[in-house]
Amino acid sequence: MVSISKNKSVFSWEYSPAPESKDHIKINDRYELFINGKFIKPQSKKHFDTINPATGEKISEIALAGEKDVEAAVKAAREAYTKTWKKMPAKERAKYIFRIARVIQERARELAVVESIDGGKPIRESRDFDIPQAANHFFYYAGWADKLDFAFPNKKPTSIGVCAQIIPWNFPLLMAAWKIAPALACGNTVVLKPAETTPLTALKLAEIIRDCDLPPSVVNIITGDGSTGEFLVNHPGVDKVAFTGSTEVGKRIQHSLAGSSKKLSLELGGKAAHIILDDAPIDQAVEGIINGIFFNQGHVCCAGSRLYLQENIAYTVIEKLKHRMQHLIVGDPLDKNTDIGAINSKAQLDKINHYLNVGVEEGNEIFQPDCNIPAKGLFCKPTLFLNVAQSHKLMQEEIFGPVLAIQTFRTIDEVIEKANNTPYGLSAGVWTNTGSRIFGLSSKLKAGVVWANTYNKFDPTSPFGGFKESGFGREGGLHGLMPYLQFD
Ligand code: NAP
Ligand code: MG
Repeated sequence: MVSISKNKSVFSWEYSPAPESKDHIKINDRYELFINGKFIKPQSKKHFDTINPATGEKISEIALAGEKDVEAAVKAAREAYTKTWKKMPAKERAKYIFRIARVIQERARELAVVESIDGGKPIRESRDFDIPQAANHFFYYAGWADKLDFAFPNKKPTSIGVCAQIIPWNFPLLMAAWKIAPALACGNTVVLKPAETTPLTALKLAEIIRDCDLPPSVVNIITGDGSTGEFLVNHPGVDKVAFTGSTEVGKRIQHSLAGSSKKLSLELGGKAAHIILDDAPIDQAVEGIINGIFFNQGHVCCAGSRLYLQENIAYTVIEKLKHRMQHLIVGDPLDKNTDIGAINSKAQLDKINHYLNVGVEEGNEIFQPDCNIPAKGLFCKPTLFLNVAQSHKLMQEEIFGPVLAIQTFRTIDEVIEKANNTPYGLSAGVWTNTGSRIFGLSSKLKAGVVWANTYNKFDPTSPFGGFKESGFGREGGLHGLMPYLQFD
């Protein structure tokens, strides 16, 4: 049912609650480590809780892998690599990967609900973006498994060995897919560590992998905290480390691997410039800006968190943006109408609130819509900061929340200089009606991905990755095979 509210500055629809059902979901009270094709108790004898950030309630207890558990997982992955996976004909490997993709599709509804409960993202996103994209990555790389000899002309690629893969909490199943699918297609075995606050869909993936009869130990999934990740990357039995997470931890990993023969790829933080030129389609651009920063509560490494508006259209865009923000629905992640769900953890909400204070202290003008946010759980209103200086922390540092810092510019040279004035270089966005301006800007912006007249669009066939302190190595597409292969 919908009713029309006059509470806001404009008429707006108010929707009755439309929560996705949880009846079909089975979440165990306790999850163990997935090693050697089985769920086994951790030798550390430790477990930790995973909670629902929208309610604060405990969902399940999760095993914490210690040093001995990491040792067991790496040993198992090594054995599976030398005895089974490396030797298996590529077309047979492809069948397993394809099977995983199919079962993710079959269990998509369940996975979407679990993802939203554990991480706080709106069901609309987990249902329409995360889970279908995760299945698509497995489908895509299943296709490459038996074509590697044709992928790189005049080269003979071979697998690397045991891959340690560490992922963050913002796209839990999707990041697991980005890591596992190309590694398996290239003939490697895997030890994956999901983030502490969002382990559940990785553990569901472990069930899927077991049910798909993947040979034991080809994929091992070990849950834990930062220390688990540290043991894993530093284990001498690991041949390759693939890490997605913060630049801080990425740098630490790079230091610790220096001088070793381990291969490394890093997908790190970002502070993307979203540039709107004066000939842009304004209404579409406003939708793009909203999607760029408020999608997934701004928990997106490539979020368009710095908005650059050409001066003569700035007023119009900001007014339309504020109007649009009045209609965003912040609340229950399981409600199909929710635009902005829960912030993933208390630590992340504290970090965002810290930056909201910094923004005010720096003297910037703040705007938040009049929307209500739930009294219980971890939530944050979408926020704009206007007239932000290039030197301000809000323009320089990654916040990883629904907070947008806005500046204006006059010339294209000026905006290129401002956009590139950051240690990061993951992504950027450009809105204009002029094709030549798109090509001009995208060739000068130092960012791994530049979206034109759209934002936050992904496809398994398209490579993704950073420049500068946003990391190196690519995931997705043909390029995404390279970090998992060695060439004679
Ligand atoms: P994080 O703190 O760096 O954690 C990432 C992962 O590393 C987690 O699994 C974490 O475990 C683990 N970890 C922590 N300390 C470690 C250590 N010393 N050695 C090895 N592993 C360690 O990052 P986050 O806060 O989870 O994620 C947010 C960051 O990820 C943002 O900066 C974002 O931009 C970036 N990100 C980048 C991309 C990309 O593609 N470039 C994609 C998504 C996210 P715990 O969870 O137990 O701490
Ligand atoms: Mg959780």
